[in-house]
Amino acid sequence: MPSIAELRQILKRIDGRSYNAYHEIRGEFALDAFTLCVDHVQGDPFATPSKLRLRVDQGLARLPEELFDNPVRRLAFEDFLARRVHRAARDDAKSRGERLGSGKSGVVLVDAGGQEVLKRTATVLSPGWVEVRLEVGLPANRRRILGRVAERLLCDRLFAIAEASLVQPPTDEARHFVDCIENQEAIRGQLSSLGLIAFVGNGSRLPRESGASDRPLVAENVVAFEAPESLRVGIDLLHPVDIGGSVCSSIEGLGVRKGVTLIVGGGYHGKSTLLDAIERGVYPHIPGDGREWVISDHSLVKIRAEDGRRVEKVDIDAFIRNLPQGRSTTAFESDDASGSTSQAASLVEALEAGASGLLLDEDTSATNFMVRDARMQALIQKQHEPITPFVERVRELCEALSVSTVLVMGGCGDYFDTADTVIALRDFLPLEVTEEARSIATNASSSRQKEAVDPVGAVAQRIPLRGSIDASRGRKRVSIRARALDQIEFGREEIDLRGVEQLVDRSQTRAIAAAIYFAAERLIDGDRTLRDVLDQLDELFDERGLDELDPCFRAGHHPGNFARPRRFELAAAINRLRSLQMRQSGKHDS
Ligand code: ADP
Ligand code: MG
Repeated sequence: MPSIAELRQILKRIDGRSYNAYHEIRGEFALDAFTLCVDHVQGDPFATPSKLRLRVDQGLARLPEELFDNPVRRLAFEDFLARRVHRAARDDAKSRGERLGSGKSGVVLVDAGGQEVLKRTATVLSPGWVEVRLEVGLPANRRRILGRVAERLLCDRLFAIAEASLVQPPTDEARHFVDCIENQEAIRGQLSSLGLIAFVGNGSRLPRESGASDRPLVAENVVAFEAPESLRVGIDLLHPVDIGGSVCSSIEGLGVRKGVTLIVGGGYHGKSTLLDAIERGVYPHIPGDGREWVISDHSLVKIRAEDGRRVEKVDIDAFIRNLPQGRSTTAFESDDASGSTSQAASLVEALEAGASGLLLDEDTSATNFMVRDARMQALIQKQHEPITPFVERVRELCEALSVSTVLVMGGCGDYFDTADTVIALRDFLPLEVTEEARSIATNASSSRQKEAVDPVGAVAQRIPLRGSIDASRGRKRVSIRARALDQIEFGREEIDLRGVEQLVDRSQTRAIAAAIYFAAERLIDGDRTLRDVLDQLDELFDERGLDELDPCFRAGHHPGNFARPRRFELAAAINRLRSLQMRQSGKHDS
């Protein structure tokens, strides 16, 4: 392998030449315990930065093996290291001060995570080495190579960044991080046997900095979470933690039980904030997030109204039937679904993908999907109202299909009859009010009539049709891009993910875009059900990670920045693809 000295020589030689000459630096260069690999060179200083990998031998890095000796610890430690590289690169940029040239010249990026800890491609640990995948802007003045600047960047600074972040990181900090994530996963693993779908630890700080930031709100008036006595559970921890100055081997908090849970309370008392935390609780959180002890079953799915979305052959008959003009509701399709039909479709799609529980908030639900009160029943008779509201079905979902629901509903008491547990939020603190709600339901009947006609059946599985997914655009055979967290450009189409609230990281979006292409090429064959396709993708991610998702992937090269999405967000994106065609299979899910 050529040495870094040779890289220096090349960079000196191409100084001042046109940008294309940077192609000469592709390849691998060694410096003692380090290896720098230049996998892809950007087209010009304004394009997406070049893809590089930097590998450090374990002999130098000396990363303790106990920090990555099982899959959860590995995920956590890899994430920890990516954050360290990110910080080191930022500090380096700060100390550097000067601009290094045009466009993205001199930027050093690593795809480190936000508040959630996800499996990602940014760092890889192996017994022999640790590798970080970087994006580096190769310096130029317009299109003229700044060779000396590049030399300092690639041959000195990158190594200093790696030295500061990957070589013998502080073990206590690393262990604290890794243990915290492993604790969260251990709690998640116990939820079901404890009869729970979620847990909210005492002391959690749920509110966020702002509507645009997922960071914790740091303010004196933040009310720390405290479970009411009647709903309090204690869960054993794998690693003892320091809670309020004392070392504890278990943690107490609110147990959200399987079944139907209603969250009520006055406006602005923290209902949606609690539900948001439970939504995000499907992922582990970094220590200090404030939600690191909010743990949800990983198959809880947020359901909301999303008018305008596309729906393809979804059986929404349990919620909506007898639409005007004889439109089918057993294989409902629309290019512009309404509030209620979109919410019904999203719900059925979540069940199809295997959701164990549903999360709904009055703020983002279609009123007519949620309720239909006695007066409305009197005015608009059932034969003229296609919708069987969710209030009629929520118990059935739980009893017949074992699907739990957590519902935020401050504005309507019709759900009192359906709930196993009612939690009221008052001044941001939860109280249990199940008994009061029950007695109100008995004494002050809502006088609404039961309307559900047929029992809700098992969910029909659908089969995506071959050839209905096209990633090409113009002369490009594959043109896919995550334009934003909630927007994918797929071939000539845009996939709108604004209604998919549990998508948290743009690298998940990138992975979803690539996974749809991967599925279209290799899995969707006109026979496999969507659920089967999702199973296959999960299996691929479990066994081989995310590297192979890149359509241009070559073994041993920078795979692009991906973070693992859940199957539900993957399904949500596929379901929102406007070109997608499906047929229903005879198979029903049990
Ligand atoms: P609701 O859904 O009950 O109307 P929200 O959950 O939207 O209320 O919360 C209203 C406001 O209160 C938000 O700005 C939120 O950040 C803030 N908030 C929520 N929980 C807390 C808390 N525990 N301590 C302090 N402020 C909070
Ligand atoms: Mg709200």
